[in-house]
Amino acid sequence: MFELSGKRIFVAGHRGMVGSAVLRRLVAEECECLTADRSTLDLRDQAAVREWFNSNQPDAVILAAAKVGGIRANSDSPADFLHDNLAIQTNVIEGAYRSGVSKLLFLGSSCIYPKFAEQPITEDSLLTGPLEPTNEYYAIAKIAGIKLCQAYRRQHGCDFISAMPTNLYGTNDTYDLDNSHVLPALIRKAYEARQAGQNTLAVWGSGTPRREFLHADDLADALVFLLKNYSDEQHINVGSGIDLTIAELAKMVMQATGLEGNLELDTSQPDGTPRKLLDSTRIRGLGWSPRISLEHGIAQTVAEYAAGASKRK
Ligand code: GDP
Repeated sequence: MFELSGKRIFVAGHRGMVGSAVLRRLVAEECECLTADRSTLDLRDQAAVREWFNSNQPDAVILAAAKVGGIRANSDSPADFLHDNLAIQTNVIEGAYRSGVSKLLFLGSSCIYPKFAEQPITEDSLLTGPLEPTNEYYAIAKIAGIKLCQAYRRQHGCDFISAMPTNLYGTNDTYDLDNSHVLPALIRKAYEARQAGQNTLAVWGSGTPRREFLHADDLADALVFLLKNYSDEQHINVGSGIDLTIAELAKMVMQATGLEGNLELDTSQPDGTPRKLLDSTRIRGLGWSPRISLEHGIAQTVAEYAAGASKRK
């Protein structure tokens, strides 16, 4: 068990959806949270990251900083997704090792698994088949991050662990339609369609791919749980255990936003991988489970989006 009380925890990526959820969750622990703004510390800059670790000496790190985006952003900027993520994670993991950090948690993604992995996807299906091409550059970076943690554990005895979350949504998500993931994109489109008095919701692809969703607050709770209780070179999945089709998801979003009408499928857009459901048996077996249902989480997220939208006006 890794005690958090009295420890200095560096939350890298604290402005993002996951990092900000982790900061909120850590309020319940008796620890000190360290953060670094992008304007003062560029995590892609190796010398700056080393210097930051030397001066701040954290006891533990939650590495939630990453360049992330939906299916289109991944296709448009493969160099950024590969380079920036490799640089950020290499610098932070190496900086943590050099400054003697006792525990580090690296955050991966469910897209590390093969496109046609058996469902639900177990941890050991990593590197057993080709990746989904729409996010392969991001996935390669994340696989390298898992392997880095494993390698530092093997070579240097570092207690560095990796968690693989499923598709996430929640507070501080990205709503820019070119970069966002499906759930925030649908919320924004449904909200705007309703405001404009329209009766269709534009959905990319065929609507048939299946995805699993987890609220970022549930993930943050899982990450704190793992930081305290998990110490193994094997990465560990974190999912809700329930998946649904994109069309079913779109209908739920229509209901939550009060938009009435039909889906308009744009099959010129990519579907991506046909199904992505994680097998979360391992983390469940350790005693963690999610609390926020998809229905409740979507309702809360729609309310937050609507409050933000009325402020922006
Ligand atoms: P993925 O899980 O890595 O494929 O990433 P996304 O969250 O971007 O996309 C998930 C699925 O939702 C894909 O099949 C998309 O084609 C579909 N989708 C439907 N409408 C949208 C949309 O407006 N934006 C995004 N990003 N995906 C959408």
